[in-house]
Amino acid sequence: MPSASDASPAPNAGPPAAAPAERRPVEQACFWMATRRRPADPPLSGRREADVAIVGAGFTGLWTALFLKALDPGREVTVLEQGMAAYGASGRNAGMLGECLDHSHALAVAHFGREEARRLAALGRENTDGLLRFLTRHGVDCDVERTGQLYVALSAGQFDELREAAEAAWSLGMPHYRLLDREAVRAELRCERYHGALYNPHCGILNPVKLVEGLKREAERRGVAFFERTRVTALEPGRDLVRLRTLSSAPGGEAEAGAPLRGEIAARRVVLATNAHTHLIFPRLLKRYIPLYDYILVSEPLTAEQQGRIGWRNRQSVTDARAFFKYYRLTADNRILWGTSEAAYYPGNRVDRSCDHSERHYAELRASFRRHFPALGDLRFPYAWGGAICSTTRFTPFFGTAHRGRVLYGLGYTGHGIASTHLAGQILAHLTLEKPSPLLDLKMVRRKPFPYPPEPLRGLAVRLVSRALRRVDAGGKPGLLLRLLDAMGIGLSS
Ligand SMILES: Cc1cc2nc3c(=O)[nH]c(=O)nc-3n(C[C@H](O)[C@H](O)[C@H](O)COP(=O)(O)OP(=O)(O)OC[C@H]3O[C@@H](n4cnc5c(N)ncnc54)[C@H](O)[C@@H]3O)c2cc1C
Repeated sequence: MPSASDASPAPNAGPPAAAPAERRPVEQACFWMATRRRPADPPLSGRREADVAIVGAGFTGLWTALFLKALDPGREVTVLEQGMAAYGASGRNAGMLGECLDHSHALAVAHFGREEARRLAALGRENTDGLLRFLTRHGVDCDVERTGQLYVALSAGQFDELREAAEAAWSLGMPHYRLLDREAVRAELRCERYHGALYNPHCGILNPVKLVEGLKREAERRGVAFFERTRVTALEPGRDLVRLRTLSSAPGGEAEAGAPLRGEIAARRVVLATNAHTHLIFPRLLKRYIPLYDYILVSEPLTAEQQGRIGWRNRQSVTDARAFFKYYRLTADNRILWGTSEAAYYPGNRVDRSCDHSERHYAELRASFRRHFPALGDLRFPYAWGGAICSTTRFTPFFGTAHRGRVLYGLGYTGHGIASTHLAGQILAHLTLEKPSPLLDLKMVRRKPFPYPPEPLRGLAVRLVSRALRRVDAGGKPGLLLRLLDAMGIGLSS
């Protein structure tokens, strides 16, 4: 269980303080946030109107604002954010830019059929290129490097699965995936545990908080108004307008110590870009997703001598082929970011500061790092934090409208949102303005994912599925439960 952090939040925190990471507020414990230097924007107070109000200044909210302005520069767009921009998953992620819109091409076939999977594969590729073109055209500096990604096999069985994954990608018109045998992958990154890898040269790495800051600046240049430290507490749909009530919050989004400022915004359309937090203001969507916390460590910078012990000259991002996988990459200043997908579910769908740290996960991450790279057993990890992933049973986001089209939403990227939020922003902007787009025809947009059970079954289901997946990761065959989920089209290998 996490050690609850009740320390007062600190915006723009400087270098890591002496306190252990797990006792520091996320603004200091998260490497990306701790190295940001700007004060929070003022909160909303009093009344205001907007054509479109967007709740949430993560990637979804920002791309939606930018695409709204691209489609209709005259629209008044206002973004409300409870913390500072990037307070949610967009500021806490690993910064690994993918190109696949599903978790894998094989899953896209299983979930949407071969033709749609082929379309998604091409769209994913164009989407990542489009995102990178935007960054170049507008000079958004977020330390982006197109290093490619290695999917590494930790057993011979996993290498067979990677070969199948390569065949699935090739069959969908993605010839750039390359299989690397044991020697080839170890020549890239010296880890005795690797049996081979699948390499996708199109992927990349970036600094997610710098990306958010760059998108926010671009949106401001186009006239989008931002209010940070502004928590939306109620959403009241009327005949023509939706009213959002707000309270000013501390920089991390939680209740302010003194008397909070009250605000209200009346908007013709409201876009919920609140991802894993959505149920806190719009509970009806909770059946379609589950909030799960992933945890990450970031090391001190590697010296040239330390890097020499492990290679990694080509700086690829890495993820292994287990159901509960580790993912890792180098930062621009050569630190190792080491994360785990062995996520925690907190009963009652809890998403708050008390979940930001988990000593159990940190201890496991440190141990697994030493197992992979004993040559760096002396490396210290001064940054450690968690963040909420918004998972769906089909691993892709979902979209929709409520209250006669006045409230719109897009969420559920299941840990893969850096690229797909760029697509989601286009989808949400077109839905909001009721403009036609071929994107609205995607099955991912037209269909909702299979629901999760409510509590108390939800917690039990997570425990049972996690246990079954751990057995498979340890080399066992999928048991009855996993086979049943696969047959229903909602399993990890359906
Ligand atoms: C640990 C971790 C690692 C990840 N690694 C990767 C990766 O390497 N590659 C990748 O592609 N994806 C990764 N992801 C997933 C990716 O970060 C997300 O899919 C993406 O950031 C979602 O963006 P978003 O804008 O929809 O949500 P968020 O970034 O969560 O934004 C939602 C925003 O809404 C705000 N908000 C919520 N409620 C309110 C309210 N009531 N009032 C005002 N504001 C509110 C929140 O403060 C938050 O800023 C990772 C996620 C995590 C947690």
